[in-house]
Amino acid sequence: MVELPVARPSVGAAGKTGNWRLFKPSIDYRKCIKCLLCWMYCPDGVISLSGKGLPVIDYEYCKGCGICAEECPVKAIEMVKEVEG
Ligand code: SF4
Ligand code: SF4
Repeated sequence: MVELPVARPSVGAAGKTGNWRLFKPSIDYRKCIKCLLCWMYCPDGVISLSGKGLPVIDYEYCKGCGICAEECPVKAIEMVKEVEG
């Protein structure tokens, strides 16, 4: 029997990333005011909250879209180039 490709839900809608992402978000926790906008806006739901209420990004699934950086009101998130390797 032929298996048809089926979309399977995963943590990130795009599945695991890391190989093809060009930029990744980097959070400066000294600037973060814990507003949680990045957590709310991340389209893939890959930002969770630490026990201290700080956002933590799961880089296994982050696709590097940059929406979190766009929405952060204090510019605590910077998109940095992925290091090849
Ligand atoms: S770049 Fe930001 S908004 Fe986009 S997937 Fe990664 S954590 Fe989510
Ligand atoms: S949007 Fe910016 S200030 Fe707000 S929780 Fe995220 S990193 Fe912190």
